[in-house]
Amino acid sequence: MVSRMVGGITPSATCELEGLIGSMKRKGIDVVALNIGEPDFKTPEAICTACKDALDARKTTYVATAGIPELRQAICHKLLRDNGLTYASEQICVSTGAKQALFNAVMAVTNPGDEVIIPTPGWVSYVEMVKLVGGIPVCVPCKSDYQLDINAIRTAVTEKTAAIIINSPNNPTGAVYGPDSLQAIADLAVEKDFYVIADEIYEKLLYGDCRHVSIASLSPEIYQRTIVINGMSKAYRMTGWRIGYSAAPADIAKGISDLQGHITSNSTTFVQWSAIEALENGEAGVQEMVAQFVQRRDYAYERAVSLPHVTCNKPDGAFYLMPDVSWYYGKRSSDQVICDSFAMSEYLLQNYHVAVVPGGAFMAPEAIRIAYTNSLSEIQRGFDRIEEALYALQ
Ligand code: PMP
Ligand code: GLU
Repeated sequence: MVSRMVGGITPSATCELEGLIGSMKRKGIDVVALNIGEPDFKTPEAICTACKDALDARKTTYVATAGIPELRQAICHKLLRDNGLTYASEQICVSTGAKQALFNAVMAVTNPGDEVIIPTPGWVSYVEMVKLVGGIPVCVPCKSDYQLDINAIRTAVTEKTAAIIINSPNNPTGAVYGPDSLQAIADLAVEKDFYVIADEIYEKLLYGDCRHVSIASLSPEIYQRTIVINGMSKAYRMTGWRIGYSAAPADIAKGISDLQGHITSNSTTFVQWSAIEALENGEAGVQEMVAQFVQRRDYAYERAVSLPHVTCNKPDGAFYLMPDVSWYYGKRSSDQVICDSFAMSEYLLQNYHVAVVPGGAFMAPEAIRIAYTNSLSEIQRGFDRIEEALYALQ
């Protein structure tokens, strides 16, 4: 029998759904996939070449747990160039995806019984990570525009608060937090002495005039209380390469590296060499991809707000939309009642072969999450199906 801890996990809805859709597609079902948060663009050639070169040079051994010095140096350079943050290599730990970097961070600052504040809607894995380290997730709803509710967060802080996890640009809402909100969180963290785990994985996916600000850059005091999380998956289309990193105050960084030394050791050695290429020369490719995402966001948003009885905030970043479909809860199609976001997603997938993620998985029970990580024509086909499905509900 599995342990109580593992038995208590809610599986990752995003990962589970991806497996299900894969098996539907293998059976020949024409599923329009608007579910997974993964750019459909291919990994750039130069990054693949750097990986092949590393393999040819047999960069295939174990290396330092926290990563090869050349990559940690490139990460320090990136953090200075893009975020105005000064780190030494010893403060960086390269991990197997931002997912592992996040888990390491949560574990490094949370004692059993400590509370970790998670603004909601929030990414599926935060709550489970906190539970897995024996912490208590404290979910604090955002405002109706999906911006942080600073007063509610302040009220949620207790003596047991160890950290808050913030994620801007946000998965699943696409919200981007402005400097004032970040400053308010920074002031609170310094005043009440807790850590900020800043998940900046969507940093480069910004639309319009929005600018990314790393909370760690706001003052020396908040720098000392922030663990910055980032990675290659989203910006450099390297989802399957599994490489991410953390930047933290020296004592936390050492703890993270010590922890990782017992779990995965270093992340894949030859992939680390290609990450250097991505960080140093990948910017043009990122900008080309963002230009495409702007078009997709605009199209998807227009389609979402044109759906009958559906409302939707316009996202400023990442590649997700969160239309509120709750007007349809309680409606039915033949003998099927759409009672919540899970039933809605199931109905869309099974009856109309369009895959979206239930908002309930992100603590947004009113919504479904649509990822515009597919071509414009697929997004169009997906929305045609969603429209037809909603019209069929009575
Ligand atoms: N944070 C957020 C908000 C995400 O959406 C994801 C999705 N992959 C991750 C972290 C993990 O990214 P990675 O692929 O680098 O593990
Ligand atoms: N983060 C992506 C998503 O939300 C990929 C899956 C995952 O890691 O959860 O779809």
